[in-house]
Order: sequence, then structure tokens, then C-alpha cells
Amino acid sequence: MKKLQQLLKNIDGKSYKAYKSIQGSYSFQHFQLAIDYVQGDPFAAPSKIRVVIPHSIRPIKEEWKQLKERNIYTADHIARTVADAIQKETSFAKGSGKSGLIHIDKPGQEILERTAVQLNNKATVICLSIGLPANGRRINGKEAEKLFFTMIPSILKNSIFSVSDDELEKSVQLADQHIAIREEMKKQDWIAFVADGAILPRKSGVSNQLLPKAVPFESPKENRVTIDIPHRNQPLTGMAIKKGISLIVGGGYHGKSTLLQALERGVYHHIQGDGREYVLTDPNAVKIRAEDGRQVTSVNISAFINDLPHGQDTKKFSTENASGSTSQATNVVEAIEASASTLLIDEDTSATNFMIRDARMQALVAPDKEPITPFIDKIKQLRDHLNISTILVMGGSGDYFDVANEVIMMDQYKPFNVTEKAQQIVKNQPVTREKITGELQHTMNQRIFLANSLQLQKGKKKKVQAKGLDLILMGNHSIQLQDVEQLIDSSQTRAIAEILRYLDDKSVLKQAKPLTEILDDIETVIDQEGLQAFAPFPKQHPGDLARPRRFEIAACLNRIRTAKIKQK
Ligand code: ADP
Ligand code: MG
Repeated sequence: MKKLQQLLKNIDGKSYKAYKSIQGSYSFQHFQLAIDYVQGDPFAAPSKIRVVIPHSIRPIKEEWKQLKERNIYTADHIARTVADAIQKETSFAKGSGKSGLIHIDKPGQEILERTAVQLNNKATVICLSIGLPANGRRINGKEAEKLFFTMIPSILKNSIFSVSDDELEKSVQLADQHIAIREEMKKQDWIAFVADGAILPRKSGVSNQLLPKAVPFESPKENRVTIDIPHRNQPLTGMAIKKGISLIVGGGYHGKSTLLQALERGVYHHIQGDGREYVLTDPNAVKIRAEDGRQVTSVNISAFINDLPHGQDTKKFSTENASGSTSQATNVVEAIEASASTLLIDEDTSATNFMIRDARMQALVAPDKEPITPFIDKIKQLRDHLNISTILVMGGSGDYFDVANEVIMMDQYKPFNVTEKAQQIVKNQPVTREKITGELQHTMNQRIFLANSLQLQKGKKKKVQAKGLDLILMGNHSIQLQDVEQLIDSSQTRAIAEILRYLDDKSVLKQAKPLTEILDDIETVIDQEGLQAFAPFPKQHPGDLARPRRFEIAACLNRIRTAKIKQK
């Protein structure tokens, strides 16, 4: 501690580079401070430090961290308290560049596995980014001293040292409840559960906060189920959606898309008070949408699209610029390849010609003139041959009534089960569609990434960089992820960028490998070594990463314009 103070005095007023001399580890009264990385100048990416608080000083109960989920929720809670304390502390920071900045990778509404706070056997490790203070390009040692000796201790005092055991206990209890709901869903073959009282709409298109004064969710009695969950006197009631094909219908503006969006997010878990804390979806559910203009590399979309003009091969379809329907077909088969078990589709973000083609149009345009077999003619095969469920928002076409197991109608933000009515309509107004034959399995996608196929920038510095939530820069190439809707946290994007670097750097892709194996391997590494396995400096500051799902990792690999991929 003396040593750091002395060092800061020595370098005060010197050129910024001299900050490098403070890299190292220092003992404070209540914690250990590790300065892992020092920025090169005040405007560069901030410095990385770790604060290590032994459990002997701030006890973290064994039962809060033994189980993986509980560990994640406890760490998540601590990260939130640190973020709040930082906000209070740093409102008055000043100086050049990033001077005085203190930052933790603050979680959003979702509780994700992340590296910002880690609970190991002996200690709680809090990872911070800081801007070492400067005047112009000269070191401001006094401010730096204040940052390390006043501000950080104060932040800790107002977060990890003041958060009560009761509060942490509540987070852990939510973990238990989520586990219990998931177990019940598995047992009962439910792909979604929406609790009564849940608040689904968000404040705005850009805010993930709940919409005040929203109509709380109220399950239709036909779908109402009861789940006993721990740490709660009353059992939870709500709507269960079974495996199979479910339609969400209803008039415009009655809350269909809002329900589907909540289901999309339900693959993740939400914090208490979010409104969606008891809205859960099959963790392998993938949102499928049209994505005009996306890159496609060697994807077998022949289940949906055949005989394109100019004889393009749809068994290994590649394009720099996919259309609405070809991009949506690609998204379906890629999701299935990555082992999705539920597809979530909204008419608002779908290509109409991919979703429907009514009997009249079939009569007019002969099948051999129409390359597209619409989703409606494949949805049953997906369910019956591949065991893949679909939840589909469709207000505009009743053709799907024939194939739906269940029809839910949204009316004034309230769901009603109208399955029987819909079946009655099918009987009274039958529609004859052309029969689709052929086995779906044979037309599914199975791709292999060739050796060293990522081809990140050659040279000593392989640049892969996440830019916010939906862009990754790879050398001169960019990977566009704005239509990958279940990528929800920029720390996930950063993690994916690190994973790309890992795949390119290590011997992982020395041989050709099926995409599914690559995804399995990555998940195994995260499960066994944690996300920090992908951090740029192993065993040091693990960065600011959050766990992406395999589907979003796949989505990124699938959109790399330079990747060398072929069908199996
Ligand atoms: P649809 O897809 O049926 O056209 P949306 O889901 O887009 O309808 O919802 C239309 C509007 O209603 C949105 O602005 C949404 O925020 C709002 N909304 C949705 N559900 C609720 C609710 N439960 N309470 C209040 N407003 C809601
Ligand atoms: Mg809508």
C-alpha cells in the first residue's frame, strides 16, 4: 500500500507512459488490488484492475456459490451493487481523456454468466476498468492516489461491504425458483411459461425497462397451470405453451409481438422487478426472421427453396446479398443446425412469400414456376420428423389453423384460447393445399468449417473487435449482427469476438470441423474453465464478457464473409 502511494508520488507530473510502473499487486486493509493492465495514454482503452476481497473479510456463504446458477446470481447481484456505488462516486470525476473513469461491466435486466464479478474458493474478485488520471498527457498522481485510496475503497464500502446477506439471499432464491420452473417445464414438455401478473411490454423500443401502467398478463383458463416453486407461499400460476405448433393471433396492436418478444427474451432469466422474472422459454428457442442483404455461405435451403433462376444450387446456397425469403430460409436451417428445438416467428419480421402461399396463388402459379415452398408446408414436418416446435405470430392468414396444435388470441393485451373455434373454422371453410412430400431430414444443413477458415487479419496483431451490441470488426471485414435479436448484451458480443480470436489463434480449427462440433467445444470450454478462458490475458483481468448462447455464436460464425465453409 505504501509502495503504491510512493510510486504515484514518484511519477506525478511525468509523462503518461510512466504509469506502466504501477502495474502489479498491492495489499490494502480489506482487499488486494491487482493492476493488470495500464493504458498507453489518457485517451486509450482504460486500464484494467481487479479488486480481490477475501471471503474471510466479506463472507460469501458456501451455499450461495456451490451451485452454478446460485453462483451466477450472487455474482450478478454484487456487480449491480458495485455499478450503483460507482455511479454515486464518480459523478464529479474530471481531467483529460478518460481520467478518473471507473467502470464495471454492469448487467442489464437479464442475469447472465459474466466475468465482471467472480466468486472463487477464497475470494470475491471484482473487475474494473479505470482511466488513470492525467492533465493533458502528464500523470496526475494526486488524483490517482485519490482514485485508489479514497474512491475505490468508498465504492467497495457502499457495495460489497454494505449489501446485506438478506439481499444476496433473495437473488439466490430467485435462482432456485428459475431452476424449479425449468425443471417443471422439462417434465411437462412445456416450451414456454408466462406467469400471471407478468408485465411484458417495455418502456420503448430502445428501453428494456418495464412499461409503467401496463396490463398485467392473465393466463387463459385452458392453458393455466400451477407450479410449486421454493421460497414462495403461493404456487405460481400462469400460461404454459406445450411442445408443438402454437399460433398467436389477434387484431393489430393487441399485444401479439409484445408476447413473442417476451418469449424471445425468456431464454434468459430476468431480475426481480423486471416484470418478466417468471417468463421462461425453452433455452434452445431461436427467433427466426427475414434478414435481407445478409451473407450466406454454403447453406442447404433446399427444403424451402429450389430451382432458382439461373440454376443456382440451393443445396449449398451462397450469396453476398440474400433476399427476404432466402435469408429467412437460411435462418431456419442454420438455427436447426445449431440444435434449436423451438422456433419463434413474428409475421412483422417475416417475408410474406416465405410464410404463406394460399390455395389460389398455388392454382395460378404452377409449383415448377415457384421456387419457394412456404413455411406453412414444412412446419408439420419440422414438428413430426425433427421434434421442433414453433410459436408463430400470425394475424394475417388463417391457413395456419390447419396445422396448429393451439391458437391463442390476444385481445386488448389479454390472451384467450381459441383453438376450438379455429378448428371449427377449418371444418366449415376447408382449404386444399398441395401435398408436400419428401423427408425433411435429407434437406437439413450440416456444414464443415475448413481448416483455419476464419482468416482473421494476417500479421502479428489479429484484430477482432466488438463495437457495441451488434457489430464485430475483423480486420477489414465487418460482421453485422443487428438482426440477431437474441443477442442482447454487448458483453456477449465482446465474448463472441474473443471466441473468434480463440478459434483462429489456437489449434482449434487446424482441421476441418463441423459447425456443431465447434459450438460443442466452445460450450465445453466455458463450462469447464469459465468465460475467462477466452479473455485476452488469461489468469489476469478476465475482461468484461458475458456468456452468449451457442445460437448467437453460430449466428456470428455464419455471417463471416471470409469463412471457408462447405456442406458435409
Ligand atoms: P401487435 O403485434 O398485436 O400489433 P404489439 O405487441 O406491437 O401489438 O403491441 C402494440 C402496443 O401495445 C405496443 O406499443 C406495446 O407496448 C403495447 N402493449 C403491449 N402489451 C401491453 C400491455 N400488456 N399493456 C399495455 N400496453 C401493451
Ligand atoms: Mg406485431
